[in-house]
Amino acid sequence: MRKYTDPFRVTKGKDFRLKDFDPGDTLGLKMDKQEAAQLLQRGSEWLAMEQDILYAQDSWSVLLVFQAMDAAGKDGTIKHVMSRVNPQGCDVFSFKQPSDEELSHDFLWRYATKVPERGRIGIFNRSYYEEVLVVRVHQELLRAQKMPPELVEKSIWDERLADISRFEDYLTRQGVVVLKFYLNLSYGEQNKRFIERLDKPEKNWKFSAADVRERRYWDDYMAAYEEAIRATASKAAPWFVVPADNKWFTRLVVAAAIVEAMEKLDLHYPKVTPEQMKDLAAAREELEQQK
Ligand code: ATP
Ligand code: MG
Repeated sequence: MRKYTDPFRVTKGKDFRLKDFDPGDTLGLKMDKQEAAQLLQRGSEWLAMEQDILYAQDSWSVLLVFQAMDAAGKDGTIKHVMSRVNPQGCDVFSFKQPSDEELSHDFLWRYATKVPERGRIGIFNRSYYEEVLVVRVHQELLRAQKMPPELVEKSIWDERLADISRFEDYLTRQGVVVLKFYLNLSYGEQNKRFIERLDKPEKNWKFSAADVRERRYWDDYMAAYEEAIRATASKAAPWFVVPADNKWFTRLVVAAAIVEAMEKLDLHYPKVTPEQMKDLAAAREELEQQK
């Protein structure tokens, strides 16, 4: 597993540079679609097994944060990696433009209310990181957040990043395992995928002219991502900078990272106490008599 995860895990931000990570990397692996799908299926089954114990144990929880440029494959990755997981133990939240109510609160509010409860896996399809990404790139969005003007200074982005980092420390200390995935798509591959959305009628619905306009801000986004990862990568809440130009590889790396983190928790089904054993025996006796 670590073969797939070690090269992409970032736990220290200091020397992090996005340009050191190749969106087309597959670690030299070549697989056809079928081989990759089989391997992914094994990963998803393993993940489902871990999730079953997580749920039974009802103590740890797992928060998976997905961030990426458009068309990087967030939706498909979530769909495929989580395909075997019991939907009852898993919640997915897609964070879009905030509502009026959300804009009237502090910036972490809408995310904090969706942190998974104990025993569950929570998936953030976009997250509080948008508050230092899209809001940083388009600063008019910050004005809509109704902050007291004297608190909006140049340092606001560093402050938000520090707040996010502490928020994640807090979650970690509460038993929430935080894993963050940046699906690292290249500018060229995004172009290709957008054109595909135009070419294929069944993909037309996914196309948005706004996404193409957003490409003009590519460099600003990359700078914002780099700073966000530098400021918030930690051992307890690592980033995975996952190559995203090959979908099959993206999914394998994400599945491996989740399984690895859950394995480390050394989860086990709750042990039955001698008292409970007695109750079980009594219940069996009663049922036998009713046969
Ligand atoms: P899809 O794969 O379907 O395109 P998506 O996550 O891009 O999924 P969209 O509805 O296309 O979903 O876009 C959501 C938009 O909401 C994104 O452009 C994102 O930047 C924006 N958004 C998310 N969080 C915030 C925020 N806090 N403030 C402003 N805009 C936000
Ligand atoms: Mg979109």
